[in-house]
Amino acid sequence: MSAEVFYRAMGLQGYWIVDVWESRGGEIEVLVEPPRESLRCRCCRSRRVHVHERKLRSWKDTPFAGKPVLIVMQSPRVRCLNCGAKTWHQPTFAAGQKRYTKNFETYVCGWLSRVTIQDVVETCGLSWDTVAEIDQRRLKRLGGPELKSLKRLAIDEVHVGKLHRFLTLVYDLDSGAIVSVSKGRGQKALNGFFSRLKRAGVFIQAVATDMAGGYVAAVMKHLWPTQLIFDRFHVVKLMNEKLTKLRREMYRELKDVQQREVLKGVRWLLLKNPENLKQTARVDERSRLAEALKLNEPLAQAYYLKDELRLFWQQDSKSSAAKFLDDWCRRAEATGIRVLRTMSHTLRGHRVGLLNWYDHPISTSPLEGTNNKIGLLQRRAYGYRRYDHFKLRLLTLHHTKFTLAG
Ligand SMILES: [Zn+2]
Repeated sequence: MSAEVFYRAMGLQGYWIVDVWESRGGEIEVLVEPPRESLRCRCCRSRRVHVHERKLRSWKDTPFAGKPVLIVMQSPRVRCLNCGAKTWHQPTFAAGQKRYTKNFETYVCGWLSRVTIQDVVETCGLSWDTVAEIDQRRLKRLGGPELKSLKRLAIDEVHVGKLHRFLTLVYDLDSGAIVSVSKGRGQKALNGFFSRLKRAGVFIQAVATDMAGGYVAAVMKHLWPTQLIFDRFHVVKLMNEKLTKLRREMYRELKDVQQREVLKGVRWLLLKNPENLKQTARVDERSRLAEALKLNEPLAQAYYLKDELRLFWQQDSKSSAAKFLDDWCRRAEATGIRVLRTMSHTLRGHRVGLLNWYDHPISTSPLEGTNNKIGLLQRRAYGYRRYDHFKLRLLTLHHTKFTLAG
């Protein structure tokens, strides 16, 4: 009975353990032998076979008592008396031509859900490709997203430096999971996933996206009458870009060296929200910013309009938000400043999607945690060398237990 437990734990039921020894390298080697009566032809399953030849093969197994374990077998090749085929014995403890046991794969998977591929390569003594292959099988088993349950989505894009490409990601805002990963940007990148949703008869209530035309077109084409919401963080980001552009223009026009220095030093302060400006005995960001704004009337106008734009999402109702937006646009145009005029034009063009926020107050902000994980995945030497693998990793990111820190 006791030996039986051991055999089963090692996945060696049905084999004889002929010998166990420790190699000079400190490896435990277990020599096994398939009982004669278990040999079969792999073509016709007949037991009427002769052992034709043997070859020494070995399989990496789960470490035992801190030592690596190797299963060794004089693997038989049998000739079938029934159909004449010559076939190699397929061990039950390993799959196909793999050089490691099924137990070992389970063991590696346990690690892969907690540490990086590189960590596993180093501790388990496997090649990168082997670990990557095991990881891909593991991720596939975790399963894809359940389309039927999707209600509210967000679309965003990331640039993956290692793969030299942009990826378009679709998130399920209710679970935080990434439900689609596709190459490229714009409408084309979303056609595949959205038509799958359409075919599955899934009704999406709302989609948050940036104001880029491509995504809007894809949502309109496939998911209508879904409500489209322009993500507030993308709007704020765009406004910040306009402000930076204006500051740069102003800087170039200035002749006075001292004034230029003042303007140069406030680049980041302009983008901060006023309540986040530092004011201590040593650092007084508020005064520095006030000084720069005093010097520069257009920059001051743009700065205050930028700050005010945030109030758009704090109105009591959709109708007061509409009034607020129109008023903001009117004042931005009245300044006569080019970057503000274009911003106003953009906001007017996306008025409906901006106001839809009052029906579905969604944004891509809950995804920040996920995006940080993606950033870390890329930055650290995880080195997903193949797109398919990286894609699988993203689609199962919500299963990731480890913090990816360090
Ligand atoms: Zn046969």
